[in-house]
Amino acid sequence: MKNRRRIYEGKAKILYEGPEPGTLIQFFKDDATAFNKKKQDVIDGKGVLNNRISEFIFTHLNQIGLPTHFIKRVNMREQLIKEVDIVPLEVIVRNIAAGTLAKRLGLEEGAVLPRSIIEFCYKEDALDDPLVSEEHITAFGWASPQEIDDIMAMAIRVNDFLTGLFAGVGIQLVDFKIEFGRLFEGDQMRIVLADEISPDSCRLWDVKTQQKLDKDVFRRDLGSLTEAYQEVARRLGIMNENEAPRPSGPVLVKSDNDD
Ligand code: 5GP
Repeated sequence: MKNRRRIYEGKAKILYEGPEPGTLIQFFKDDATAFNKKKQDVIDGKGVLNNRISEFIFTHLNQIGLPTHFIKRVNMREQLIKEVDIVPLEVIVRNIAAGTLAKRLGLEEGAVLPRSIIEFCYKEDALDDPLVSEEHITAFGWASPQEIDDIMAMAIRVNDFLTGLFAGVGIQLVDFKIEFGRLFEGDQMRIVLADEISPDSCRLWDVKTQQKLDKDVFRRDLGSLTEAYQEVARRLGIMNENEAPRPSGPVLVKSDNDD
């Protein structure tokens, strides 16, 4: 597709106009950034892996009736998506203490939280995406109380689905960030899951070794990011070592208790 109109360019993705009105093409870049662009690199193949992993997850979420912007993957780096108005919030779901929560509250990294916790950050790079409360969100009109309820209910469903999906392949879902958008259909509007879900936006630890299989590998210089993301894709049954598609689905990992 040549000369198509670029709608938006973010740190890891570009949005182009889509083939039909109301659609967009989401392009996954190889750029890796952390600490709000203070650390940057280009990691060969990251975009391809994130495109495949996010496709896999969004396809399953659509199948369980959770509304998303995802329509289909069109090639190695691109997806066809529905155009939505992004709600300017990063919705973070946490199961285990890590990252900024561990730092903010002085918790030991790896401690299991008493229950899953949802946090909201205002999406504004210039301010480093500050943590905000529901009071800020409604007072400044970023989302209505009903929309916050819908977002929280969907965030919990995504967490339940992802926790089970990753546990089945020997991976602990520590936390993740998701985004939502407003989808307009005729005179109806509803909140749908948008953006991506990939090792860029999740913390994923190997159950047995606690090895990190996510963007912390890049943030903390822990080794090869591509190898970590490939391992996630391989366990989910998306790609084999040669990155060829494999239709078999997740590779179940036997727990020590299984015979
Ligand atoms: P923390 O607040 O501990 O840095 O991040 C919590 C979770 O949200 C982690 O899984 C992290 O990867 C994800 N996250 C937080 N902010 C961003 C962001 O701006 N971009 C992406 N891709 N993920 C984020």
